[in-house]
Amino acid sequence: MLRYVLTYSVASFAIVTISGCQSIDLQPAAALADIVIENGIVYDGSGLAGRDLDIAIADGQIIFVGQLQSGQFPDAERIDADGLVVAPGFIDPHTHAGSDLKSDDIERRRNLAFAYQGVTTVLIGNDGRGGADVTAQAERLESQKIGTNVAYLAGFGHIRKKIIGDAARAPSDAELGRMKMMINDAMCQGAYGLSAGLYYPPQNFAKTDEVVALAKIAARYGGYYDTHLRDESTYNIGLFGAVEEALEIGKRSGAAVHIAHIKALGPAVWGHSEKIIKRVEEARLAGQIVTADQYPWSASGTRISNALVPRWAMDGGLDGLRQRLADPTILARIRQDMAANLKRRGGADTLLITGNLGQDNVETGVTLAEIAERLSSDPLDAAIDILRVGDARVASFNMNAEDIMTFASQDWVVTGSDGSVGHPRKYGSFPKAYRDFVVRDKLLDLPQFIRRSSGQTADIVGLKDRGYLKPGMAADVVIFDPERYAPRATYQQPRRLSTGVEYLLVNGQMLISGGTHTDEMPGRSLLKDTQC
Ligand SMILES: [Zn+2]
Repeated sequence: MLRYVLTYSVASFAIVTISGCQSIDLQPAAALADIVIENGIVYDGSGLAGRDLDIAIADGQIIFVGQLQSGQFPDAERIDADGLVVAPGFIDPHTHAGSDLKSDDIERRRNLAFAYQGVTTVLIGNDGRGGADVTAQAERLESQKIGTNVAYLAGFGHIRKKIIGDAARAPSDAELGRMKMMINDAMCQGAYGLSAGLYYPPQNFAKTDEVVALAKIAARYGGYYDTHLRDESTYNIGLFGAVEEALEIGKRSGAAVHIAHIKALGPAVWGHSEKIIKRVEEARLAGQIVTADQYPWSASGTRISNALVPRWAMDGGLDGLRQRLADPTILARIRQDMAANLKRRGGADTLLITGNLGQDNVETGVTLAEIAERLSSDPLDAAIDILRVGDARVASFNMNAEDIMTFASQDWVVTGSDGSVGHPRKYGSFPKAYRDFVVRDKLLDLPQFIRRSSGQTADIVGLKDRGYLKPGMAADVVIFDPERYAPRATYQQPRRLSTGVEYLLVNGQMLISGGTHTDEMPGRSLLKDTQC
């Protein structure tokens, strides 16, 4: 620790400004470094073009970015990044990596699905699912060790469920007070904001006012409101109405709004991206902070229940649903609404079964249409049969290429994965965004892609010492081969690691070295520094 303090204070003393905005340290040769990265092209996360610079790291932090003199840091380990891109470790603002990171299985805790994309920090607790017990989660992960860093969101759904269960009703004043207390505690324990998934039961049972009251608490501590919209299609208030609601929640609560995995879901809203963008830009021009993340796949990942079952039938959760399915009159109504939802999604051909939940009699790797065909039944009946005993994960092909590209071109949209089990997005979103948007379509250049995968995301989340390659920042660094950086995961084989990341440093330690992972577990819980 002492070495770090001395080194950094010398480094700070010697900062010079070049071309008005770039800080480059002139490091005295006597200072010590653990690792030196040389010969690479450095993209610092700000959106600037790549430059031929060297980086020195000591005690988990970047102490120098500039041109090293020969013989400087002679004892440091050298990484030869010749021909490689050197960038800030990527930050994924929307993942479902929590269960891997909390697992007893060390292999899962390494978080390699993300690491091999160049991701050094994942947000967890998205879609309203994050626990409010941030300290307990952080202590657990700290003691059992993890591969990448993790940052936490408090989840509206989690909190609502704790206080009023799965019921389709509003909270009493006392219940709302307890929900506010829980969010207050989560923020004071280091959560970066409040996440919600108003599409999902029981969160969908909440009216806008309830969410505003809770987002206010997050905003009080500088936290943001991260939302899976109430509707990405035409299920209830419509995609446009749901964006409007998110903006209203942001405006009334004072919280910055971040729209998760922005998309136009289903043929009925295809082409609506322009209209959504116009509305968001209007809000931004009026001074509101509004951003979004996006994964570059045409299928979303969800469950049969979430995709097809009408929300009124989910009062009381899946147990409530199963009781209703046993009543022929109610079953007929559910089936009718499910038919409309299946149409919204694009039909039974567009739902690929990727995993079983609660039963093991459903084939995976086939569509709902194929399952129905094999059983000589109707797709709706096949889906209802699945729901009677369990549920199934599905990849739901519901986005069109134009909307994906239109959203991807916006400078307020950042890279995310929504990484979850059974969908290749968990293993390949960042390299796929690079392949599709930078290499193939030339929608973005490399500095833009890096910015929206690192610095811009750090700014949105409020991660103060991440996302940029400059002295004083934590040494989270990805070094990848621009020719080989690519996804390998597919819908049929969703668990294939991506290629091209040669080195990945997390807090100054190598999680990936020479393309293979090490035994290090350098990840940390990153907690928001909140004054409570
Ligand atoms: Zn979501």
